[in-house]
Amino acid sequence: MNDGRALALAYLEQQRLLGGDQVILTSSPDTPGFRPGLVNPPTDTVSLTPGASPGKTDTLPAPGLSFDPPSGDLFAADPVQQADTLDAVAALVADCTKCKLCEARQHTVPGEGPAHARLVVVGEGPGRTEDETGRPFVGKAGELLTKILGAIEFPREQVFICNVVKCRPPENRLPQYDEIAACVPYLFRQIELLKPAVILAMGGTAAQTLLNTKQSLGALRNLVHRFRGIPVIVTYHPAALLRNPNWKRPTWDDVRIARRILDS
Ligand code: URA
Ligand code: SF4
Repeated sequence: MNDGRALALAYLEQQRLLGGDQVILTSSPDTPGFRPGLVNPPTDTVSLTPGASPGKTDTLPAPGLSFDPPSGDLFAADPVQQADTLDAVAALVADCTKCKLCEARQHTVPGEGPAHARLVVVGEGPGRTEDETGRPFVGKAGELLTKILGAIEFPREQVFICNVVKCRPPENRLPQYDEIAACVPYLFRQIELLKPAVILAMGGTAAQTLLNTKQSLGALRNLVHRFRGIPVIVTYHPAALLRNPNWKRPTWDDVRIARRILDS
């Protein structure tokens, strides 16, 4: 298989995973009618994405909300602020009993990824598999997240992946306000240490926490928000995508916005 065709197949597989229409490619590049013009991701994405307007891939969405919670020496006596590595934050999380989620947890799930990650993904909270393993996004939703990251050519190993709360809410219920308030200093400190180029907020809990808003996910999507100046892109949670495959296509649009910022 020549490079163009291999690229096309890989691209179409990505589109399928992300909810695009299935395209069956029967002709080989040697067959009359084979159109290599379709095979060049990501600039040709538009041609396979009904509803996406040409040019959409070049421009960034409008600015959205900005949230600048105070940081650093204002709270210098706080051990979370003094933690000067991601491992130091994780060690504090491991011993944390600041909210009732500590009671039923098997493992804390502080998050994982390289300290120099340019992309940070923020989810909601650990699920069952995460609680069992101490690792973020390793269950079914995690597998989908890995594919989504692959689709923007961001191998999972290059991304820092974490959650708003670091212990599993019982029966995967939403984290409650007091739990989020207790846990969020860890997330904010992680972001402060990582200084990523982009944050991808997956789901309402992550988006509302990072932007200090009650606005719905639908209202927050397709804007470039800022958390302490860092661009925040909001999209659906992978677990929601598993229930609602129709949201895969908008998610694909969202992650491409993140990719464009990373490339700029
Ligand atoms: N869902 C989340 O929000 N986070 C995980 O780590 C796993 C599932
Ligand atoms: Fe501490 Fe966060 Fe776990 Fe609550 S969820 S016990 S604040 S680490």
